[in-house]
Amino acid sequence: MAMAGKLLANKVAIITGSTKGIGFAIAKKLALEGATVVVSSRRQENVTTAIAELKKENLPHLGVACHVGKEEDRKNLIEQTIKKFGKIDILVSNVAVSPHFGLTIGITEKQIDKIFDVNVKSSFLIARDCYPYLKATKGNITFVTSIGAYKPFVGGGWYSISKTSLLALTRVMASELAVDGIRVNCIAPGLIKTDFSKGLTENETIRNKFLEEIPLGRLGQPDDCAGAVVFLSCDQLSSYVTGECISMTGGIQSRL
Ligand code: NAP
Repeated sequence: MAMAGKLLANKVAIITGSTKGIGFAIAKKLALEGATVVVSSRRQENVTTAIAELKKENLPHLGVACHVGKEEDRKNLIEQTIKKFGKIDILVSNVAVSPHFGLTIGITEKQIDKIFDVNVKSSFLIARDCYPYLKATKGNITFVTSIGAYKPFVGGGWYSISKTSLLALTRVMASELAVDGIRVNCIAPGLIKTDFSKGLTENETIRNKFLEEIPLGRLGQPDDCAGAVVFLSCDQLSSYVTGECISMTGGIQSRL
């Protein structure tokens, strides 16, 4: 835990779903700012690949396989972190699923359950499980929601509804945990080029329709989402910011 002088020196950060895409970009940026990052996702081979990347740049890390929907995995993720580093300062809850694309009326109950189990319930549960440690460090939590929280995606109705719920979760937890000195915020990415969004970005018609709406005229990259998380995770930069959401959408409007 070296890197004195950096914004997040001596901080320990858990980032869920962080072996690729937006989660990995966030982990890398937090590490470049001095944090020791705990990288995780369901598949051990993805964890191994991600930590090899961090190793190449000499960035302090730990890799732990963790399915956020499994209680024993969340417990193990936290235990391994505490065993190795003794504390948790930052939690970034990044995992989401979207098992249904199409008219909202066509979704099955099982698909709705999966969306809410992973996107909302597991996001809360990992935050709840980390709470005693975050209380000890007066740490902070960032949830990853979506532009869909404000402007529901055509074809991704229930996914969007789950992401709007994360806005509410952020506000509820921010007001309840303020007394413990824990700040809780979220980020809302627009259309970002990752495996998750391939169905949209690799379909020319859909991609062009999105591009027409993006004032900056390009799709986002995972790294476009990471700087805001450094800001929200860093007390020197955002000590009076809680219950907020920062959007990175290339200009698609997300509020009044
Ligand atoms: P991605 O590139 O598909 O990466 C997802 C990551 O999460 C992978 O590391 C994956 O690894 C892991 N993961 C998936 N399910 C998991 C689970 N149940 N438990 C633990 N880890 C899991 O996705 P992304 O585009 O970066 O999306 C990250 C977040 O950004 C999501 O919350 C998404 O809703 C949000 N977002 C994305 C976009 C976009 O356009 N891409 C836009 C707005 C918001 P394993 O397969 O090894 O588990």
